[in-house]
Amino acid sequence: MLEKTLLSRIRIWTLCLAFAGTFSVSEAAMTDLRFDKDISKQRIEQHLYLLTKEIGERSVRRWENHAQTRDALEEIFQRIGLRTTLETYDYKGTPVANVIGEINPGKHSTQRYLVGAHYDSVAGTVGADDNASGVAVLLELAEVLQENRNLLDPSLSIRLVAFALEEPPVFSTSYMGSKVHASAMKANQEQLTGMICLEMVGYTCHREGCQSYPFPLQFMKYPKKGDFIGIVGNFRSRKFTAALMDAFSNNPALPAITLSVPFNGWLMPAIRLSDHAPFWDQGFKAVMITDTAFYRNPHYHLSSDTMETLDIDFMAELVRSLLLFFLAADSR
Ligand SMILES: [Zn+2]
Repeated sequence: MLEKTLLSRIRIWTLCLAFAGTFSVSEAAMTDLRFDKDISKQRIEQHLYLLTKEIGERSVRRWENHAQTRDALEEIFQRIGLRTTLETYDYKGTPVANVIGEINPGKHSTQRYLVGAHYDSVAGTVGADDNASGVAVLLELAEVLQENRNLLDPSLSIRLVAFALEEPPVFSTSYMGSKVHASAMKANQEQLTGMICLEMVGYTCHREGCQSYPFPLQFMKYPKKGDFIGIVGNFRSRKFTAALMDAFSNNPALPAITLSVPFNGWLMPAIRLSDHAPFWDQGFKAVMITDTAFYRNPHYHLSSDTMETLDIDFMAELVRSLLLFFLAADSR
């Protein structure tokens, strides 16, 4: 019974979102925006190379690599010109840090967004899709937002956060970087318009049936090929999810699919497996943007999760779609 209710609710929301309309990016912004896909692809590739080849495994058993990643990310945010800070905390005697870069961090901003991605990996893998892909898109988004800064609404502030720890054995404990950050924001009564979590955003598959789904979605009319990006929100975030979908629909090169789940996703636990969940739990609006992880990528948490398996073009298109979302911020 519960499952039936859930199924019909999801279907209703999916249909609503599919017909949500296509306002968004002004023509002026569309004409003036600076986005060179080839340059974005090159920079994304460089970030992936740094994280997965030069540094490699970034798990709790390789602290020197983890610290090297933190330092490298701090340096990149600084080079791009973001106000950069470290949110350092203790993990069982080892200091770790969320790396924060901010664009227009004014106190008077009326629209405050956070985009986050965890930079650690599971032990035994260099974690290219999980989650060097999310970090690479985060860094490239920082770059293109800076390049288009004159087109961003002055009321908008964007915080980009590379979270220190997300993977097991830390997952769901108080040591998760996103949990540390979301709890601090709540304690400081910070305003947040919406949080975007980038969790595995680089893998595509193009064979009929290569895409699977968590129960009960496999019984619904979702695509059988894995060439789309997923936007997953809870019910509280459904307007935010719809606004993202509206902006993304201006980029025909990246098909997007939305899903809104009730009860902060507890009925479908796979939906909670990343850094958006602590924000949901603190009452903030948040979405996860994902290639659907193990529902698509057979290399999930394996040593074969390498950058050679990733679709860099797809990742660059995601950067473009996110840029379009932030350029549309003044029309919301
Ligand atoms: Zn992950």
